[in-house]
Amino acid sequence: MESYLAELNDAQRAPVLQKDGAMIVIAGAGSGKTRVLTYRIAYLMSKGVDPFNILSLTFTNKAAREMKKRIAQIVGNSEAKNLWMGTFHSIFAKMLRFEADKLGYPSNFTIYDTQDSQRLISAIIKEMGLDKDVYKYKQVYSRISSFKNSLITVKAYFQNPELIEADAMSKKPRMGEIYKNYVERCFKAGAMDFDDLLLKTNELLNRFPDVLHKYQNRFRYILVDEYQDTNHSQYLIVKALSDKFQNICVVGDDAQSIYAFRGANINNILNFQKDYENVQMYRLEQNYRSTNNIVQAANSIIDKNKTKLEKVVWTANDDGPKIVVNRLLTDGEEGRFVASSIFENRMQNQLNNGDFAILYRTNAQSRAMEDALRKREIPYRIYGGLSFYQRKEIKDVLSYLRLLVNPNDEEALKRVINYPARGIGSTTIDKLTIVANQYGRSIFEVIENMDQLDLKINSGTRNKLANFVNMIKSFRILNENADAFTVADTVAKKTGLVQELKKDGTPEGIARIENIEELLNGIRDFVEGQKELADATGSLTEFLEDVALATDMDKDTGDDDRVALMTIHLAKGLEFPYVYIVGMEEDLFPSAMSMNTRTELEEERRLFYVALTRAEKQAYLTYTQSRYRWGKLVDAEPSRFIEEIEAKFLDYMIPQDDYKYKPLIDTDIFGDEIDKSKFRQSKPKAGTPPPAHKPSEEQLRKLRKLRPATPAPGATQNTDGVKLNVGDRVEHIRFGKGAVLNIEGVGQDKKAEIDFENGGIKKLLLRFAKLKLL
Ligand code: ATP
Ligand code: MG
Repeated sequence: MESYLAELNDAQRAPVLQKDGAMIVIAGAGSGKTRVLTYRIAYLMSKGVDPFNILSLTFTNKAAREMKKRIAQIVGNSEAKNLWMGTFHSIFAKMLRFEADKLGYPSNFTIYDTQDSQRLISAIIKEMGLDKDVYKYKQVYSRISSFKNSLITVKAYFQNPELIEADAMSKKPRMGEIYKNYVERCFKAGAMDFDDLLLKTNELLNRFPDVLHKYQNRFRYILVDEYQDTNHSQYLIVKALSDKFQNICVVGDDAQSIYAFRGANINNILNFQKDYENVQMYRLEQNYRSTNNIVQAANSIIDKNKTKLEKVVWTANDDGPKIVVNRLLTDGEEGRFVASSIFENRMQNQLNNGDFAILYRTNAQSRAMEDALRKREIPYRIYGGLSFYQRKEIKDVLSYLRLLVNPNDEEALKRVINYPARGIGSTTIDKLTIVANQYGRSIFEVIENMDQLDLKINSGTRNKLANFVNMIKSFRILNENADAFTVADTVAKKTGLVQELKKDGTPEGIARIENIEELLNGIRDFVEGQKELADATGSLTEFLEDVALATDMDKDTGDDDRVALMTIHLAKGLEFPYVYIVGMEEDLFPSAMSMNTRTELEEERRLFYVALTRAEKQAYLTYTQSRYRWGKLVDAEPSRFIEEIEAKFLDYMIPQDDYKYKPLIDTDIFGDEIDKSKFRQSKPKAGTPPPAHKPSEEQLRKLRKLRPATPAPGATQNTDGVKLNVGDRVEHIRFGKGAVLNIEGVGQDKKAEIDFENGGIKKLLLRFAKLKLL
């Protein structure tokens, strides 16, 4: 037996040694599921499977890198580099680059991050003259996201009376139109949002059998980690790709399904056996991660859930210390307790900062922890907050880069056309937007052609616009020959961005310049790193894709020694010797937003199970007696989840029956006295009810039948060179069918007056308008 196989127990070895066929490994936390995937890949390679034929989907790109590293050690050569391994989004973004033209996209399409998408939706809501308090852009965004993840295209939406009615009932009758406009604008901008990366992959595999066959043949072996949290769109991709060879291995734990709120579907794991032939089911039972106390306590929690697969999890590890529970007065005190506990543990047990994690339910809780850690001078790192790449100055540079790669990228253009200020005001941009929408073209193209278009813009502004476009074009030319670093460096300087910050002169301005330098360093490293890879060149497009998909978890090289702060959702799959779970209070955890149904409460409980099972040696649970929530200081009650753990696993630092508030005077984090009489006594109102428009299971089942997406909006023929005559019938992507009433001008300036069904009479520049002759 190869020696690495001895690093597995019998139960783990079985799925590793089953080379072919469909298999599912269902097992509790810390039982070695991820290890099975890693060793299975190494085993396949040792049996002669070409790494190019293996596709492995992970929860973070960091996990993928670590797996690759381990595999490289086992197989002992550089072949592991050729594995396709990463998150769904990064893998399929890469695939879409090769195939983009089939869907009418340029291969250098932009990836819109959440912020870009939300800005665009916000702009559309404004342009449509809708009330932004009714049509809240974030809500609209997540509604559109849920359509996409259920593969409900714009066309499918308009064919579904139930969805239309649900939106009308929730006072958003124009949701469908917003969706339609959003999809068109993204397409026109040559941009895909995060959900598109999955939706368009489905569209591609569904509409182009030859493409499907190509990738089916390529990915003969498919492996998926954290299968319990795949959404419908991801499920269909995996199903389609594995359909031919059926060599598929998925691992997961139904008790760790925590992304239902984002469309993850636990049924994917429950139905796996029906989806493939001769499915082998494996179970792992031994936990290697945690102490016996932690394993038993976690078991006692998940036992309370009614919906679950019965599983055994045990460990041969020592009992270890009990789980410490502590009650603090305020979140400031909670922070101080956690910081000093970390400090003491680190000293006493000779540990590193990286051995500690602080986990919380919501990002806002990090502030109190940060304050306390800073005071104690304990280095920390926050994951999932505003990441480096979302900082303003970084997004400004990146927007220039995005724009030079893809001039149609509207969100990038709007961000930088007047930054640094060059006298192009918002009225001008509005005018350009209106004309761009009329023609179904991008703002950049409108500026390029402004001399022939009927724009009410004075010659001074026209000059400024022309200068801007010329500058971007000069960067494009540079990009043809220079590497990504040189281009980015030139952009930072020539656009005036750096000068602008230098002028500012404040410490913040200086910090921003340093950030830009850091970005440039990062690009240099990236270019160097990419050169080593077989299928990469170190181009700007590759860099931008990497950035768009990187979470800051991915950037963590583990080089610097810091305490990790993150939400429990982000902690999935990770492990730390010491874990502090803070804010263990009713209405916070379980969240007030998720206590309305048993299903929601059970998901919160699974979340707690995930949190606790991250700990290897010791876990701490803390809660406060009062906390600022919704702007008010409110009394807090300990979370029911604490009481759900069998008492024998807990070690209370306070008397157990002492839940009532005792001291009348205490001090807050600033040492000021807190006057208890100011505390609100009543409990806060539970959060807003769930949205009434959530489709029923029945509706979703109907919708989930894969439908081909709407044809690409810009796929109509351009009339360039088409000789239109008065009386001809034409079709326009926005205004629909129409009749040509009049023609004027010649050559490049030729314009037609057309009476459209949906838009009335419009005069359009023919060279520019996307018209189809009927
Ligand atoms: P989760 O459900 O949290 O994702 P998991 O089932 O994927 O957990 P792993 O992360 O693969 O579990 O393993 C948990 C820990 O136990 C890791 O540190 C791993 O290296 C270790 N481990 C797993 N199997 C063995 C084994 N047979 N011998 C020694 N250590 C093991
Ligand atoms: Mg795992």
